[in-house]
Amino acid sequence: MTIFLIIPLFIGLVIGLAINYLADVLPITRSFSQPACQTCGTIITAKDYLLFRACSQGHRRSARAWITPIVILVISLYVWSLPPKIGYALGMIVVGYFGLVFIIDLEHRLILHPTSIFGAALGLAVGFVKRGFTSSGIAATLFGALGGLAIMLFFYFMGVLFSRIRANKLRAAGQEADDEEALGAGDVILVTVLGLMLGWPVIWFGVLAGILIGGAVSLLLLFWLLITGQYSKKSLMLFIPYGPYFITSAFMIIFFPNLVSKILVP
Ligand SMILES: [Zn+2]
Repeated sequence: MTIFLIIPLFIGLVIGLAINYLADVLPITRSFSQPACQTCGTIITAKDYLLFRACSQGHRRSARAWITPIVILVISLYVWSLPPKIGYALGMIVVGYFGLVFIIDLEHRLILHPTSIFGAALGLAVGFVKRGFTSSGIAATLFGALGGLAIMLFFYFMGVLFSRIRANKLRAAGQEADDEEALGAGDVILVTVLGLMLGWPVIWFGVLAGILIGGAVSLLLLFWLLITGQYSKKSLMLFIPYGPYFITSAFMIIFFPNLVSKILVP
């Protein structure tokens, strides 16, 4: 029995390393290029890269390079022991996609279009496997995407309106207006993809939970910054990437359905 744990251990490690590699190269070169040092840009050989070695200038790999494979390994063991409705294999592809979007958005405040296109194809597959290829199942999947898109477009234009009012106020006060956008187009696309996976009406809960998680994390961060005396107006920028919060929410709904339903119906 335990010998079979080699499978999720191996797959978890491979997916963790793949996320690392893609998160290192895609935001920089937009292609499957050779990995380079995140600090100085020196190309790292495949062997040195796989062995987590420092670059030739001595810059060490980031903490994320170590954390990612470990976290994905643990998730892989969990998904293996308690597979979701979509099964272990498809579940782990979803984990890989979530992990990659999570890290790139956190590090670069960016959701890349190629990952979104991959996500849309994956979302359709997840939707059809989860809710079936019947007319009602297909409708729930497609309306999930449409619903996610509509909810996010509403927030998006609210955000545009808000930043316009803010810019006008700044100008009226004689200050220079900044182009701070609360919600990016990437977030809108991401939630549309998550809508395919979660379906209608669960996507509603997904967005709401994402916003609540984001609010809770922001409050904790703010609290911590105030305590440690690091608070400044600039530190508010820390809270902006929404993608990781929506991903966390969708991850909980797909992989911890019992826990989520217990929270909903205590
Ligand atoms: Zn370097």
